This record gives sequence, structure tokens and C-alpha cells, in this order.
Amino acid sequence: MNQIIEQEPADAQASEALLPPGLYIVATPIGNLGDLSPRAASVLMRAETIAVEDSRVTAKLLHHLGVKRHMTPYHDHNADKVRPGLIARMATQAVALVSDAGTPLISDPGYKLVRDARAAGITVTTLPGPCAAVAAMTLAGLPTDRFFFLGFLPSKEKARADAIAEVAEVRATLILYESGPRLGATLQALADGLGNREAAVVREISKTFEESVLGPLSELAERYRESGPRGEIVVVVGPPGPRPAASMDDADTLLRAALVHMPTGKAASEVARATGLNRRDLYTRSMDLKGSD
Ligand code: SAM
Repeated sequence: MNQIIEQEPADAQASEALLPPGLYIVATPIGNLGDLSPRAASVLMRAETIAVEDSRVTAKLLHHLGVKRHMTPYHDHNADKVRPGLIARMATQAVALVSDAGTPLISDPGYKLVRDARAAGITVTTLPGPCAAVAAMTLAGLPTDRFFFLGFLPSKEKARADAIAEVAEVRATLILYESGPRLGATLQALADGLGNREAAVVREISKTFEESVLGPLSELAERYRESGPRGEIVVVVGPPGPRPAASMDDADTLLRAALVHMPTGKAASEVARATGLNRRDLYTRSMDLKGSD
């Protein structure tokens, strides 16, 4: 159940003025309606058309604002057909894009609309706001300096394991969206593919039953093995630990392979990047190897 915090429109006068034509990307709450920004509310109240994923969901938000607006469904199944008409409207009208919740385009439709609007010379304005991925990261207590957003992983076991293997070497916190019924299997696949990293299951952000459960992946997989929790979920996984130090033998093997098809300086740089060893030492070693061959 959403919590509703009533608020005045940002500025009564501004809410009546006509918006310049163009495309307005409007982030909407992921739970608590009080998170709708006054600027977002003002644009939704003034847009001539709102492109929506599901008109029933957006109708509730508009009801909360006390307005009725013209809505055009824009979702994965009709986007290609509807897009040209929306772009044509933007030349003379303010068209807002919303998704059911959060920031449009983030695991939601919209990027092609922005791409085509830009190609047509339309002004694109964004109204930033709630996004479950970013909000979850603020709750997880895991490093935030580098993060990699995976959206939803594939549901089939092999495709999911492949997608996880692809990011196993990424030195960043990973963020993914998941549903309750699939949570246990996904956490186990993450533990198998990434090792027992620290992670967080963040649920129902900004709603009554908001919850963050932190722990190593294997413990979280165990906790949710039998039954997934209710509600909407983001999984955040910490980055891998420090790389084990490479030995000079490893470096020799890599340098020999690199020197076959690149000059000494570039080979030293590449191997330094791969091993974390000192580039100058590797350059000297490359010269020795070349001399001894
Ligand atoms: N565009 C949205 C955004 O900016 O976060 C995400 C849309 S995606 C289709 C929906 C998924 O986001 C849900 O299945 C869930 O994984 C996550 N999500 C959305 N709201 C959430 C919330 N209040 N708490 C936790 N996760 C949420």
C-alpha cells in the first residue's frame, strides 16, 4: 500500500502556464507518493499528452494530483507503432513520458523515444527523481564509487549463469532487479558465479514494509531458498576482493605472448594493467626476454 503524503503543487501560477513543446521525461515515486517532486507534478499537470506504460497506474497518480490528462499508452508491445505519432506531437505540444514507477528508461521503455526525439530536433527535458537501483544502493552499505547496473537477469538457468559469468571480473558493485519467486535461485546463481561476496536484498523501498537484509551471498541464498519475500526487490552485490598478486612467472608468460604482436612499451602497459605489476619493471623484463630469445 502506498503511503500518501499530501503536498501543495509547487507553484499554483506555474502549474497553469503553458509548457513549451517538447519531450519531458518525468520520474515518479517507487512507493511513497510524497516523493513526487513539485516540478514533476507541475509538468504532469500541464503536459498536453502523457505517454504511459499502464494508464490505470498513471491515472491513480493523476487522481492524487487532482487532474485528468490525455494519456497515450507507450509500452514494449506498441512502442514502434506509437512512437512516430508521439514525435509528431512534440513539435507543437508538451509530451511527458512516465513509467509505472521510478525513472523512465531504466529497465523501462523510452530510450528510442528520446533517440528519435533528438533526431527530429525536439527539446528533451528530464525531471529527475526516484530510481529503485540508486535508492537500493544508498541502503546497502556497499561501495558506491563504481557500480554496474544489470537490470533483470535472464530467467533461464544457463542464460542467467552466462550473464553472471560475464560480469564476474567487473571491479564494481553490481545492482539488479528481481522478483520474489526467483530471488532464492538468483542469489544461489550469484554465489556460484561470483563467490561469497557481501550483498544486500533491498525490498519495498519507501513503502510501509521497507526492508534491507545484508549478508554474504550464500547466507542470503539460504534465507530465501524456500520462499521469496513479497513485494519489489533490488539485489546489490559488493565488488570482488583484491586480485591475488601475479607472480613474475605469470608476467613472463603474458609478456612473451604480448611481444609477439605488439611493441615492448605497449606489451609492458597491457601486462601491467592485467596483473597490477609495475610497468617500468615489466618493460625492463621485456627487454631481458627479447635479449634472451
Ligand atoms: N524504472 C524503474 C526505476 O527507476 O527503478 C524500474 C522499473 S523495473 C520494470 C521494476 C523493478 O524495479 C521491480 O521489479 C523491482 O525490482 C524494482 N523496484 C521498483 N520499485 C521498487 C521498490 N519500491 N523497492 C524495491 N525495488 C523496486
